[in-house]
Amino acid sequence: GREWHLAARPQGWPTTEDFALVEAPVRQPGPGEILVRNEYLSVDPYMRGRMSARKSYADPYELDKPMLGGAVGRVVASQAEGFAEGDHVLHYFGWREYATFDARTAVKVDPDAAPLSAFLGVLGMPGLTAYAGLTRIAEVKAGDVVFVSGAAGAVGGIVGQIAKLKGAARVIGSAGSDDKVKLLVEEYGFDAAFNYKNGPVAEQLRAAAPDGIDVYFDNVGGDHLEAAIDVLNLHGRIVACGMISQYNATEPTPAPRNLAQIIAKRFRMEGLLVGDHYDLQPKFVEEVSAWVRSGELKYRETVTQGVDSAVDAFLGLLRGDNTGKMVIRLAS
Ligand code: NDP
Repeated sequence: GREWHLAARPQGWPTTEDFALVEAPVRQPGPGEILVRNEYLSVDPYMRGRMSARKSYADPYELDKPMLGGAVGRVVASQAEGFAEGDHVLHYFGWREYATFDARTAVKVDPDAAPLSAFLGVLGMPGLTAYAGLTRIAEVKAGDVVFVSGAAGAVGGIVGQIAKLKGAARVIGSAGSDDKVKLLVEEYGFDAAFNYKNGPVAEQLRAAAPDGIDVYFDNVGGDHLEAAIDVLNLHGRIVACGMISQYNATEPTPAPRNLAQIIAKRFRMEGLLVGDHYDLQPKFVEEVSAWVRSGELKYRETVTQGVDSAVDAFLGLLRGDNTGKMVIRLAS
C-alpha cells in the first residue's frame, strides 16, 4: 500500500517537495491487531503544526515515517476480539492506504448511521470541537450574538448552526470567498456574513454587528481576533480554537493591539482543545446526529480522490480551497 511520509520540515508554506508517497508492504495483523483498508482520510489544519519540530499539543511527525491523521476504513483482517472482517473503524493511521495497528486505538462506526466521511467531520472531531467550544467554553445562551471566523470550514459551519439551534439572537460569519458567504446566509441560516478579503475585518464586522457580539469563536486569529475584541460586549466570551492565519508565519505575529479592553469589558478568552472534551461525545453525537437527520443542521464536504491527492488536499485546505470538511476518498 502507498503511504505519505514527511520528507522535510516546511519553512513557511509547505510545498509538495516536503512530502513523499512511498510504497510499503502490507503487514498482516498480530495478536490484538487489525489490518484496515482506509476508505476516507482526513486532512486538518493542526497537521501543519505537527510538521514542525517544535513540540505542541500533538507530537511532531517524524521525518521519513508515515504521517498520522484521522481515517475511516474497513477491517480486512482481524486478530482482535470484537473486530471482524468487514467492520468499519475510525482511527488515527491516516495518510496511507492500509494500516495494521492495535485494535484498542480504533473505534467502530456504523456505516448505516451516517456516510462514512461524516465520522471525520460533522459527527467527528471537528463537530465535537464546535459543540464543546460553544456549549462548554462559550456557554452560549439564548439571545447571544455569536461571531465565528472560518465559518465555511468544517468547524465554523457547525459552530454557526449550533449557535442558532441553541437560540442565538444573531449569528455572523466570515469566510474567504463570496460563494462561501452566500452558502453561510442562504443555506446555513447565518444572519450575516462577509468575505474578509473584500475589506478590513474590523469595518465589515462592525457593520454586521451593530449591537456588538457576545461570543467570538476564533478559528483564525490576527486581524479577526482584534476586530472581535473591538466589538465584544461586556462579559463577552472568546473561544480560542485556532489561529490558522498564523500557521505558516515565519516571523512572530503581532498580538491583538487592543487586548487592554479585556479589563473594561471583563471579557473571558479561553483556549479549547478538543481532546479535553471527549466526555461530551455521547451527548454531542446524540444531539448533532438528530439535527443532521432532521435537516436542521447542514454540512458540506470537499472530497478529493485517491491517496495521491492527499498532499494537494492538505495544501488546498490551508489556502481555503475547501468548503466544509476536506476529505480524501480512496477506492473501496
Ligand atoms: P477548515 O475546514 O475551516 O479549513 C481551514 C480554512 O481556513 C480554509 O478553508 C480557509 O477558508 C481558512 N483560512 C486559511 N487561511 C486563512 C487566513 N489567513 N485567514 C482566514 N481564514 C483562513 O478547517 P477546520 O474546520 O478543520 O479547522 C478550523 C480551525 O479550527 C483551525 O484553526 C484549526 O486549527 C482549529 N481546530 C482546533 C481544534 C482544537 O482542538 N483546538 C480542533 C479542530 C480544529 P477561507 O476560504 O474562509 O479562507
